[in-house]
Amino acid sequence: MTDPSNMPVAVARGRSSNRRPCKREGCPRPGRSDDYCCRICRDLDIEFDRLHELYDSAGDPSLSREAWLALSSVSDQWTDFVKARFALHQHIREAGLPLPQLSRGGPT
Ligand SMILES: [Zn+2]
Repeated sequence: MTDPSNMPVAVARGRSSNRRPCKREGCPRPGRSDDYCCRICRDLDIEFDRLHELYDSAGDPSLSREAWLALSSVSDQWTDFVKARFALHQHIREAGLPLPQLSRGGPT
């Protein structure tokens, strides 16, 4: 059976409509058994949890806000990258071009 995590989003979603979306807010991909589509989404959510725990101890709200905005920016950038990479993948498929063998493994 093909691993849906290696398929583009639309294909994976079409074949696995019962799967819940990735647990990281804003992620367009379906989740795997651990509820995340990839280790980066899982790690980003862990960082949000850690930051939430630090928030009460920080004392200076501006530092908490700065850290929160920076982490949110990284998270949003990862979402943008995932979407852009999917568009690239889709373009290659629709153009009938050969998909490369990724030298460092399948998509994250
Ligand atoms: Zn995800």
